[in-house]
Amino acid sequence: MAQDYYDILGVSKSATSEEIKKAYRKLAIKYHPDKNPGNKEAEEKFKEVSQAYEVVGNPEKRRQYDQLGHEAYTNAGNGGAYDSRHAQDIFSQFFGGFGGGGGFNFEDLFGGGGSRRRNPNAPVPGDDLRYDMEIDFEDAVYGADKPVNIPRMSSCPDCNGSGCTPGSGKKTCSRCGGAGSQTISQGFFSVRQECPACHGEGQVIEKPCRKCGGKGRVRTQESFQIHIRPGVNTGSQLRVSGRGNAGLRGGRDGDLYVFIHVKPSKIFERSDDDLLCEVPVPITVLANGGVIEVPTISGCARMQVPAGTQSGAVLRLKGKGVPSLRGGSRGDLHVRVVVETPVKLTKEQQELLNKFNASLTSANQPRKSRFTEAAGNFLRSDDGAK
Ligand SMILES: [Zn+2]
Ligand SMILES: [Zn+2]
Repeated sequence: MAQDYYDILGVSKSATSEEIKKAYRKLAIKYHPDKNPGNKEAEEKFKEVSQAYEVVGNPEKRRQYDQLGHEAYTNAGNGGAYDSRHAQDIFSQFFGGFGGGGGFNFEDLFGGGGSRRRNPNAPVPGDDLRYDMEIDFEDAVYGADKPVNIPRMSSCPDCNGSGCTPGSGKKTCSRCGGAGSQTISQGFFSVRQECPACHGEGQVIEKPCRKCGGKGRVRTQESFQIHIRPGVNTGSQLRVSGRGNAGLRGGRDGDLYVFIHVKPSKIFERSDDDLLCEVPVPITVLANGGVIEVPTISGCARMQVPAGTQSGAVLRLKGKGVPSLRGGSRGDLHVRVVVETPVKLTKEQQELLNKFNASLTSANQPRKSRFTEAAGNFLRSDDGAK
């Protein structure tokens, strides 16, 4: 249980991305369900390895993970139930050679390549599809409607998905007599095999539809809008029902899963629904107190800085963060005020500063006084040891 993702992959925390890939490749092949049919333990291992790789194999997620540590990262809703289909997806992504070019990456998700069908005439649901979408920071905060153009397998309009030229139908396969399988004898053994003529369906199409070649589906490109709700973040998944591949023989259409990737903002750092903004402030404002202007996602806000605020202090503007996806509340905006040391001073300015500095007493600089005292003690005890 106390294993972290590096332990699971058997690599060190400083492993290069190449080493991580290598480790995942080895373990994923070793524990893949196809190699270990019915082996629950291997299946669990396979899921674990995939989950670990999904995080530390991704530079951005790995950075977050390293920063937060295993506990905090998984407690933040990143761990949790992990299903085999998702693990399979990571696997096929890794070995499928997708992911080249652009920000987009499109592929069949959860596709059951080589899956065994029980009844060859039963409806087959369409595959779910995955679409990776990169959006601006502002769109994640305010929400947006984004046009997309998605390639998918849709039901053939000419034959309504039947695969038969209109007016024709299916006939019993002459090769297997409708059984869908053949028995082949090899010495003492007889082996049942899927009928190669009808691919196990027991029926063949009389006149295949010209548009789809009898497959019942055609590759199309569909344009529509994806509604992005305010508050999404990198890692958010939007499910668009029925926009995956069309089902076969009346099976339901798959869904489209949109995986969100949010581009970083130039001024805000985001942590869940909270935002952090670092604002440079002149030393006079920090020392005397004053009002500064702060950028927020709902426009400019004025914020009171109390007199004697130290550089690096974080002040909070409640409710000025990102709207929560769960609705209702909003995160907070944390403003880190940082003194800007003035640069390129003229002689005159330097003199003014020196004059001011000479006027400071230890009461004006309690931290410096404390430090001097502590450092003094340290030095004295060090001398004494010699
Ligand atoms: Zn057709
Ligand atoms: Zn047949």
